[in-house]
Amino acid sequence: MTTIRASCPSCGDVDLTVRDVSVRVCANDHSGSYTFRCPACEMAVAKHADPNVVELLVSSGVKMAVWQLPAELWEPRAGEPISHDDLLDFHELLSDERWFERLTELVDTEPSA
Ligand SMILES: [Zn+2]
Repeated sequence: MTTIRASCPSCGDVDLTVRDVSVRVCANDHSGSYTFRCPACEMAVAKHADPNVVELLVSSGVKMAVWQLPAELWEPRAGEPISHDDLLDFHELLSDERWFERLTELVDTEPSA
């Protein structure tokens, strides 16, 4: 059984098996990381992993998961960011039984050119 030596911020070097470690690679920027639960203090530990570390861990038998950044990051944004005043206005609007109708009246639903 392959032993993987990793470092816990509290306990220092700890020995793990391939099943104790997970590798994650972001499909968008190809950044990698690995995670494990420290066998001594049981804290979850996450660390950045350079491509050579990812390759080493995966070739040792560690399972790799590929994930993607949330699609919301590429949504077009318009207008100013919401402020505390906007939030208070919305809270006040919600106290009205017709809040949804009033809200749709406030929103421009015409498709912009
Ligand atoms: Zn620890």
